[in-house]
Amino acid sequence: MMRVFIMMILLLAPLLSHAELRVFSCEPEWAALAEEMGGDLVEAYSATTALQDPHYIQARPSLIAKVRRANLVICSGAQLEIGWLPALMQKANNRDVRPGSRGYMEASNFVVRFDATASVDRAGGDIHPLGNPHVQTNPHNVAAVAGILAERMAELDAENASIYESRSADFLLRFGEAIQEWELKAAPLRGKRAITHHKSWVYLERWLGIDEVGNLEAVPGLPPTATHLSKLTKEFTDGGADVIIRAPYQDGKPSKWLAERTGITAVVLPLTIGGTDGATDLFSLYDDILSRLLGAVQ
Ligand SMILES: [Zn+2]
Repeated sequence: MMRVFIMMILLLAPLLSHAELRVFSCEPEWAALAEEMGGDLVEAYSATTALQDPHYIQARPSLIAKVRRANLVICSGAQLEIGWLPALMQKANNRDVRPGSRGYMEASNFVVRFDATASVDRAGGDIHPLGNPHVQTNPHNVAAVAGILAERMAELDAENASIYESRSADFLLRFGEAIQEWELKAAPLRGKRAITHHKSWVYLERWLGIDEVGNLEAVPGLPPTATHLSKLTKEFTDGGADVIIRAPYQDGKPSKWLAERTGITAVVLPLTIGGTDGATDLFSLYDDILSRLLGAVQ
């Protein structure tokens, strides 16, 4: 009887075992991508939610513990997390994931980054001196990161390399088909003019042919001021913009204020997974962004 019992435990063991790779992600989209690449082999954790501003979070002890246990850290990079990630890394003191190691990657290093302004002083307000870090708003960027991420995961967990490879190929096939559908669906957005709260959407805009004609923040990272909003009101009272965009974590008052005075429709778009009820994975994220945008401009 005891022998049968032990046999059963041994047979069940693989089902009960822990994930092979613990991935610490700074933002939900990269955690979701790691899960797409690894499935059950991966335990992915995101430091921020879509309802938090990824530029500014607290380096909580629970996050330090997560980094300490991680095999792989993936973040947007380009200084998006400079306010909190270095402190986490230092306190976690995990040599497997320190910058420069195979266990650390910045997604924005693998895409064409827009708007690098090396001459702009971060202290002067611009929080994107190395270029815009919000690369996930274009799915082509996510696809570019997917292959690199899968390679890294295969390297860190060589035993399961073939699984990461095949999952990556399968994801890229399905995601590529979805991108084609999104591009067809988004055709009416081409040439539309957007005012955005923060410069969060430059990759989405370039992807879909939307013109960014203004920002509610006068300088990226500094909250909208009354003076700047008055200026925008004057500028756009007689048209000139089709939609005002903000992310769920951004204060809704400035876009509402401008919408009421100019008649331009204000819309909330999920900047990442979890930003809206509809954005539950990397596919429904863009579905939801597009239906919200189309609804706002039509
Ligand atoms: Zn930003």
